[in-house]
Amino acid sequence: MSKYGKEILIGIVPVVLLFLAFLGLNIIPILMVAIIAVSLLYVARPKMNMDTKADRTKNVRKPAPLSFDQIGGQDRAKHELKEALEFIIKQDDIKKFGIRPLKGILLTGPPGTGKTLMAKAAAHYTNSVFVAASGSEFVEMYVGVGASRIRDLFKKARTMAQKENKESAVVFIDEIDVIGGKRDGGQHREYDQTLNQLLTEMDGIHTSDTPRILIVAATNRKEMLDPALLRPGRFDRHIQVDLPDKKGRLHILNIHAKNKPLADEVNLEKIAEESFQFSGAQLESVMNEAAIYAMRDQAEKIEQRHLTLAIDKVMMGEKTDRETSREERERVAYHELGHAIMAEVVKPGTVSQVSLSPRGPALGFVRHNPQDDQYLYTKEYLEERIMIALGGAVAEEMFYGNRSTGSRNDFEQALNLVKMMMDSGLTSLGIVDREMVTKEELMKANASILDSLTARTREVLESYRSVFIQSLGILLKEEVLSGDQFRNLLAILKQRSSA
Ligand code: ATP
Repeated sequence: MSKYGKEILIGIVPVVLLFLAFLGLNIIPILMVAIIAVSLLYVARPKMNMDTKADRTKNVRKPAPLSFDQIGGQDRAKHELKEALEFIIKQDDIKKFGIRPLKGILLTGPPGTGKTLMAKAAAHYTNSVFVAASGSEFVEMYVGVGASRIRDLFKKARTMAQKENKESAVVFIDEIDVIGGKRDGGQHREYDQTLNQLLTEMDGIHTSDTPRILIVAATNRKEMLDPALLRPGRFDRHIQVDLPDKKGRLHILNIHAKNKPLADEVNLEKIAEESFQFSGAQLESVMNEAAIYAMRDQAEKIEQRHLTLAIDKVMMGEKTDRETSREERERVAYHELGHAIMAEVVKPGTVSQVSLSPRGPALGFVRHNPQDDQYLYTKEYLEERIMIALGGAVAEEMFYGNRSTGSRNDFEQALNLVKMMMDSGLTSLGIVDREMVTKEELMKANASILDSLTARTREVLESYRSVFIQSLGILLKEEVLSGDQFRNLLAILKQRSSA
């Protein structure tokens, strides 16, 4: 009945009214009352919806007892965070020195690097309750709903702490940029109200309050945040959570390998080496996918090859069974050989796989394995990377006289590297703000860099023409060559061609 009650009412009420009118009764007062009642119900409805939705989305999640030891890598970020948390733990000292309470910590960094884990560990470390919400949960059409959800979130944190007999609460707001973007006073009035409410809640936090509240927020786009959020007294501790380096990657892999059976031959260090620029979430996924491959294989344990396959899967997507013609496969092979040969020329020992099996949107790919994590790049290094990216298109030109759409991503990569060079003052433009230079000048500098690097790439690859031709058949037959196989082949063929 409750499900169809509304429909039945809508049907019955007009019939009854018409009947009363037919009997000669004055139905105007009844109509007026009905209209007022419906309008009142309509106005109240958003609030009711909001409440039920708030309950449904469950802003509050039960804290998982997670300690800092369960977070791999991120040594510096963990250290900074723990240091900041001392403010909560050492309350007596805080009072003695008259230090104002730390209210907000902002964690910034790429997705999947463990920001949520850090916030959970912060709650565990300080023996606080953990309350989490995501910026997008506060976005609603109705003005005021977001603000009231912020109020509810803080209220919930306080009640939970009281219930669990804890002296402090960590309120975690993921994707803070969704509500904390710069206020423009214009179209996004609703977001402004939500942000204002958050600022009000922060301003209301005092040292003497129990439970003490610490807000930990996370974002991938710090530059988007309203300055009011970042000023002293608000989110004035900023901790960068970066992609893990090789040591960090190994640590994360080890953490996620704990509940998995690994074969003795498995070398996680090699996997850490090959998963350059992977986030913690991607590394977790590598371990998980490897376990799935092992299960599908009906193997007893996870083997190294399962892990290698899992890296490809996480990096490029699932293998596709796209049927390609012989000509297309040949073109892809030349293209990938172009990248791989160029990589081995400029950075020997860095190719870790050449593959012709289609994965995700790619028909083939070369996986690179930089020897060491590097954070500062010289002009030469960036030029070499651009040449590796251009290698595919140049190889196609050498053997077909034209390029194909297969180079789209390579060009995007090359253009980004050129942009990085420009922004770092590594081009003929010198040290410039790109805003100060005309489009024509930028285009000229861009074209001159790419033209000269394309010419250099062509010159190098032309000297390997016979190597291309001889290795083509092998790559087409084998489909996948490991870095070592490829290097051996390259050495033999190069020796043969120069003999
Ligand atoms: P987003 O910005 O997308 O919200 P995030 O930085 O908050 O991401 P988390 O949600 O903390 O990332 O991490 C997602 C998952 O990735 C975790 O549940 C965990 O399995 C894994 N992970 C990420 N970083 C680490 C790490 N440093 N150590 C161990 N596991 C990690």
